[in-house]
Amino acid sequence: MIDFAIEPEFEEQLAWVRAFVAEEVEAMDLVFDDMSAPYDRSNLAARAALKPLQDEVKRRGLWAAHLPAHDGGAGIGQVKLLHINEILGRTDWGPVVFGCQGPDSGNSEILAAFGTEDQKARWLKPLVAGEMYSCFSMTEPTGGADPTRLKTQAVRDGEDWVITGDKWYASHAQYADFIIVAAVTDPDAEPHLRNTLFIVPKGAPGLEIVREVGFFGEPEGVGGHPYIRFNALRLPDSARLGDRGGGFAVAQARLGGGRIHHAMRAIGLCQRAIDMMTERAVSREVAGGRLIDKQSVQNDIAASAIALRQFRLQVLHAAWMFDAGLGHGREGRLAVSMVKVATADITRDILWKAMHMHGALGTSNELPFGKWLGLAAMFGIADGPTEVHLSSVAKALSRGVEPWPGLFPREHLPTRRIAARAKLARYTEAAA
Ligand SMILES: Cc1cc2nc3c(=O)[nH]c(=O)nc-3n(C[C@H](O)[C@H](O)[C@H](O)COP(=O)(O)OP(=O)(O)OC[C@H]3O[C@@H](n4cnc5c(N)ncnc54)[C@H](O)[C@@H]3O)c2cc1C
Repeated sequence: MIDFAIEPEFEEQLAWVRAFVAEEVEAMDLVFDDMSAPYDRSNLAARAALKPLQDEVKRRGLWAAHLPAHDGGAGIGQVKLLHINEILGRTDWGPVVFGCQGPDSGNSEILAAFGTEDQKARWLKPLVAGEMYSCFSMTEPTGGADPTRLKTQAVRDGEDWVITGDKWYASHAQYADFIIVAAVTDPDAEPHLRNTLFIVPKGAPGLEIVREVGFFGEPEGVGGHPYIRFNALRLPDSARLGDRGGGFAVAQARLGGGRIHHAMRAIGLCQRAIDMMTERAVSREVAGGRLIDKQSVQNDIAASAIALRQFRLQVLHAAWMFDAGLGHGREGRLAVSMVKVATADITRDILWKAMHMHGALGTSNELPFGKWLGLAAMFGIADGPTEVHLSSVAKALSRGVEPWPGLFPREHLPTRRIAARAKLARYTEAAA
């Protein structure tokens, strides 16, 4: 059965989320507007304002909505999560207020699926409760788009592992209570079986935050994606997450969900930009009338709304696949790669149009487009660049397709017409 209706009880919850985000969460965005602020526990005023909001979300039963109930989440599934995430995506603080922010959401999913009972008690429980933050560190300065080329090594030494190597774009590493790091344990294995994941506690001897690289114009030293180093960092085998050599498979499991969660939030961000465009277009007078009376402006608004509706349906379908247990198979991976590419393209196009329609004001720090365009750039690079996903999509679609033997392709009209004429000859000849 295909049904887009929302049941009344959930619609009531959504109405509450909309009002709560507009009245309470947007205030957090305005007052604590540094991109890393939601993860920085040293800002005591921000923490004091955050706590009652998180408590209210917990009271409403909407905390950690990405997780099933048995892992400590709201247990509402991915389709309903989309309806919540698209509201949260209008803000910076929304995901932290609702306990479903990346990279913690993906990390909680893999801890729930692959963690030992001890790991779940030590890391998953406080992470889901919102008492901890985490980091997922795979990318290295020597290259990130191809995770089979990692250089950071974990070498067995007696009962321990010794990790050595450099990583960067380790989002939130400086705020994290633990870092899940991918390291090469089996350099001679086939490429997808070389890496293993380890859980590195904050402050472990040998863990160094080398520098903050900054994101799109942030001042030196500010940011949330540092360069980090593992200086012969020693861990017991109990810090291993998942099987030895299983790092790639575990990472893929986390990235699928993470990619569609970004897409869900991007819907809300794009809708907010369209709302801004529309309001500006009916408000602003230019030569010959209002902006909304100009056909090019009408085209931009209409094309943005049409593209967003298509995208939203695409993400809804991918979310439905996850709820139907199809998220991790071949079809699921194809759907996620398609969503990943579309997320980057649509946010870049709509945010750029919205920024441009606001003229100089759109480029200023008095509107949020600069920060948002940075996010659009991130959507095209993080979790695998657009080109890599395009390549996966094309490979998946062409897998099993046999080459056509003839000089002209299957759909060649003159060739097909000969066969069609022969098929219909008994009618055409009789009528002639
Ligand atoms: C804001 C932000 C946050 C991030 N957070 C994290 C994090 O928390 N943890 C983490 O591990 N990583 C994180 N990353 C890193 C991200 O996953 C990598 O940047 C990404 O995988 C690309 O790796 P790279 O930067 O080394 O680019 P490269 O591998 O050098 O690729 C550069 C460019 O080359 C092109 N390219 C690469 N491969 C191909 C190909 N096969 N075909 C065609 N073109 C190709 C693409 O245009 C690509 O953008 C983050 C990145 C950003 C921007």
